[in-house]
Amino acid sequence: MARHVLTRDAKVEADKSAAPIPRPLSLANEVYEAIFSQLMALKIAPGARITVDNLSRELGVSQTPIREALGRLEGEGLVNKTHLIGFSAAPQISVRQFANLYELRLLLEPHAAREAVARLTDKNLAALTEAAGVMGRRAKSGDERARYSQFARQDAVFHDMIVQTAGNDLIRDTLAHQHVHFHIFRLMFHSRVTAEALEEHEAIIAAFEARDGQAAEQAMRAHIERSRDRLLPVFE
Ligand SMILES: [Zn+2]
Repeated sequence: MARHVLTRDAKVEADKSAAPIPRPLSLANEVYEAIFSQLMALKIAPGARITVDNLSRELGVSQTPIREALGRLEGEGLVNKTHLIGFSAAPQISVRQFANLYELRLLLEPHAAREAVARLTDKNLAALTEAAGVMGRRAKSGDERARYSQFARQDAVFHDMIVQTAGNDLIRDTLAHQHVHFHIFRLMFHSRVTAEALEEHEAIIAAFEARDGQAAEQAMRAHIERSRDRLLPVFE
């Protein structure tokens, strides 16, 4: 987080009393991204208290964008707010919740991948290939923590795109509501998680390119099963 945001934020705070000037989107996003990547990379430990004051000092911004970011993260299931106590990082999911999440994914996503192939347009395919490609490119630059959290978000986008292409809004909403990717990426901060997932995404894209529904279903199942097996040692 760059220090220059301090002046920009201070100016907005001052202006706010005179007229409701919208906060620059980039500042709100910068603060959000900074806290998001600390949560994803476990710099803020699961269950740990989050003090608005401390974050405000650390990031060099006023409390307002911090509170906004924490509110947004609360909506994404990454932060809890308790009356009188304040904010804390959501606890790590339990082994039971983990098993349930993967059972749900294995029931829905391979099927959705097959359906997506049946409804695939050239435009969808280009968007999916682009989404998979962004992950690969980002993996080569930037600081490791930011890279990891961007990968987690992009993985969520990639999987959501496939389910969206499949066309069943109930399946899409059910998965989106679980914030699967945020929870699973927070289990382990490790580059292996991203490197192997990239190869598996390529296999999914190859099946889409071949317009092969069965291969897409299999590639998605293999990806989710391997993802589960990569993360399972966290609970041992
Ligand atoms: Zn994935």
